[in-house]
Amino acid sequence: MLVIGSVLITAIAGGYLAYINNMKSLSSSYLDNNYHYAQKLSSNTSDLLDKMQKNISFIAEIAGQESFSQKDLDIVYRGNDQYFNSIVISNSNREVRFVNPGDTGVNVGTLLTSDASLQASLLRKPMISEPYIAVSGRLILMVSAPIFNDSGTYIGFAGGTLYLQEDNALSKLLMEHFYGNGSYVYVADQQGRLIYHPVIERVNEIVKNNKVIERGLSGQSGSQRVVNSEEKSFFAGFAYEPISEWVIVSQTPTAILDKPLRDMLFSLLMKDIPLFLIILIIAVRVSYYISTPLYRLAQFSEEAFDSKKANPPSLPKISSIIYDVNQLHKSMGKYLNLLNEEIQMDGLTGLANRKTFDLNIQEWYEEKIPFALILVDMDHFKQINDTYGHARGDEVLKFVASELRLVATPGDVCFRYGGEEFGILVKFAERHSVLDMAELLRKKIAESECPIEGQGITISIGVALSDTLSGGPEKVIEFADQALYQSKKEGRNRTNIYQE
Ligand code: GH3
Ligand code: MG
Ligand code: MG
Repeated sequence: MLVIGSVLITAIAGGYLAYINNMKSLSSSYLDNNYHYAQKLSSNTSDLLDKMQKNISFIAEIAGQESFSQKDLDIVYRGNDQYFNSIVISNSNREVRFVNPGDTGVNVGTLLTSDASLQASLLRKPMISEPYIAVSGRLILMVSAPIFNDSGTYIGFAGGTLYLQEDNALSKLLMEHFYGNGSYVYVADQQGRLIYHPVIERVNEIVKNNKVIERGLSGQSGSQRVVNSEEKSFFAGFAYEPISEWVIVSQTPTAILDKPLRDMLFSLLMKDIPLFLIILIIAVRVSYYISTPLYRLAQFSEEAFDSKKANPPSLPKISSIIYDVNQLHKSMGKYLNLLNEEIQMDGLTGLANRKTFDLNIQEWYEEKIPFALILVDMDHFKQINDTYGHARGDEVLKFVASELRLVATPGDVCFRYGGEEFGILVKFAERHSVLDMAELLRKKIAESECPIEGQGITISIGVALSDTLSGGPEKVIEFADQALYQSKKEGRNRTNIYQE
């Protein structure tokens, strides 16, 4: 769980970082692009206005000649009709002297009343008016230049008008854009009034609280994120156009990032899932590998704890690459062996003790294993103790124990029953072979060199077979005891088998 958790968190954090980074770089590239586009539009607008200004000045110059006629205006208009929707030549009283084309609502003799005309005649220098609404309802811009006659006297002005929303070079420049991704351009004049906007109804609207327009009108150019009047968010680039003092804004909806970012997350996910599965499999395998030895040790402990058998289950073999587990396993083995010895063995002789004997006989009986019990009691042992002392007596006991081991076959259990009484539990015993074993033991001891020089020792034996009788293991002990008693009674150093 820890590994999987870590992998998941890493993957999520990685995905999130990738998302943020992509978003940042895409955002800044959209901001940059819009900024550069706005700048380009601004510099093109400057060039165009400059060109129009020059053309009007040229027209004003030739209109200063006495011979200038309507025909001359018609000719120069033809060279300027892509810039101006109309050109008027006014006298110093702002009355129209010549006009082209003739269908503009302004005729020869008409008094020009607009602010732009008033300013042109007052200032008497080349100028570009603020956009204004003409009598016709059109949004108009006038580029004008004063007319002086040969003697330098002011005799009026030449004005080129542009209908901002109609066909001319400036409209083409500021209205036609080929984004196709939801981006658009709008232009605001010195008052913050929209003079170009893709939504025609918004043209002429004065925009308030628009950061980009505010910054642009203060002479700055740059880019930033903005939220428009419909609460939509945009990457906006803006540029200040110095001749007209307009702000040109190019902006792209931020929603344009949704799809590429979604695609990126999807592809990250597609790459992450197989990796995640591989790590999952590895994690499961490794944790299994790590925990299995521990689990087996734990299972063993549980079984050993519950076990009531003479021989508790032995410590399982485990292989682990982990130092701690190996060390634990080793120590457990060591202490178990020690404990087993303590619990099961007789301290003096190293034979199984009475407790082990009891458990064994019970177990064999329950498992219906046929067995025999050879019960041994030393003859006149008290005398040996009395004559040579307890310590020598103990040596004799150890000697007898070693003789027991020698006659027993693998699978049999040699034990010290208590004091100077011993026995052998013989597995799968048959009558004659058990008797042979008992007799062999008795004879060997009677004939052998006792650890006490010059002292012969003998033993008396009683034997009982488990399958010849009914009743529990206590009966077997009881009957072997009876047979032993019989041997003692008959004069010792002999073997008797219990018979009903
Ligand atoms: P019998 O032939 O009738 O068996 O005579 P016995 O002297 O052997 O009598 P019994 O079996 O009653 O004797 C038991 C003696 O064993 C008493 C005690 O001094 C001795 N004994 C018991 N346990 C130990 C022991 O751990 N070490 C020594 N040295 N002697 C022991
Ligand atoms: Mg005894
Ligand atoms: Mg005895």
